[in-house]
Amino acid sequence: MSDLPPRVLVINSGSSSLKYQLIEPEDGISIASGLVERIGEPVSHTEHIYGDKDVAMDQPILDHTAALREVLRLFNQVGPDLETANIIAVGHRVVQGGRYFDGPALIDDQTRNLIDQLSPLAPLHNPAHLKGIDVARQMLPDVPHVAVFDTAFFQTLPDASATYALDKETADRYSIRRYGAHGTSHQYVSNRVHDLLGRKRIRQIVLHLGNGASASAVVNGRAIDTSMGLTPLEGLVMGTRTGDIDPAAIFHLMRVGGMKLDEIDTLFNKRSGLKGLTGDNDMRSVRARANAGDKEARLALDIMIHRLVKYVGGYAAAMGGLDVLTFTAGIGENDAVLRQELCDRLKIFGIKLDPVGNVLRSKDPRTISSDDSAVRVMVVPTNEELAIARQTFSLLE
Ligand code: ADP
Repeated sequence: MSDLPPRVLVINSGSSSLKYQLIEPEDGISIASGLVERIGEPVSHTEHIYGDKDVAMDQPILDHTAALREVLRLFNQVGPDLETANIIAVGHRVVQGGRYFDGPALIDDQTRNLIDQLSPLAPLHNPAHLKGIDVARQMLPDVPHVAVFDTAFFQTLPDASATYALDKETADRYSIRRYGAHGTSHQYVSNRVHDLLGRKRIRQIVLHLGNGASASAVVNGRAIDTSMGLTPLEGLVMGTRTGDIDPAAIFHLMRVGGMKLDEIDTLFNKRSGLKGLTGDNDMRSVRARANAGDKEARLALDIMIHRLVKYVGGYAAAMGGLDVLTFTAGIGENDAVLRQELCDRLKIFGIKLDPVGNVLRSKDPRTISSDDSAVRVMVVPTNEELAIARQTFSLLE
């Protein structure tokens, strides 16, 4: 038995990257973290952080096996020594869990095969996760591996919000429904709000506004709607994704524009949103340009805010009222101007921001509405890695 508290190694394996963090789930401390980027390219980038040591390197890393081998070497060389680090499990982020998973799952051959079977619904993600899962299970065979799904929190969606008005037989045959995404973040953030306020009964809207962006409606801790759908393409205006768009735009681009399906896929996912509207997908640049009088940038922000107003209004109506509006992720946590502009448009709900509290910079969860606001507005920093570590730990307890 180790004297150290239990620790979970969290792995987020993408198609050309592998990010990791060693976490003590009970007290939420991050012990070490790092990433390998540009796997398979001529020069890959590696960084490992442990205490005050930060080791970065550029070198070729052929594939995910080589990437994880390099990560284990870095732990060995820079620390902490994994042999004695008291790792009780590895938690893997998995984007698509389909209808199979409404919570974390121990990865055995059956779970692995189900994640594989779900690849057509998340072709950019699930195959990349499997690469990380397979090499990690091989190289760290003595600890349990657990999958934590982005979609799990949204398995509670009522049929009325999860079902598209599509021919039923076709939808069933091809598993077309709204699965949502970012669920680990929405669950973590909405639970934090319950803990912080010490209340069980809350009608809450969480706005996760990062490069990817999504909204969720959560009643008493249970999700009843979310803006991402079959894939993370649906919903809000994002860094590079369209969010909601008439699907007939696809027919039009194919028939009239002569575009191929893959080109449209790339256009909607990678060349749209803020990037498509302004050429820039970083909110800080778009904001700076709008402040300097750039009309394109201002319009992009207006489109983004208009979409948010529609979602907040719709969700508040669907929940029969709104108690807490919560902002999280890169833009949600940092862009006080966006929060102010959005809340100014939500006066019908009696929302009033505290202008001083809103601009206060902090890494802690906080209330930014004024005392006489009819809705409490909060900023709650998300921490998906910690949420994965905790879910992994809870499955094994
Ligand atoms: P990801 O989805 O990649 O995890 P993040 O949650 O890190 O994204 O959010 C990235 C977004 O947050 C970027 O658009 C970035 O410009 C924005 N952001 C970060 N800091 C600020 C800030 N101070 N003001 C406005 N936007 C910010």
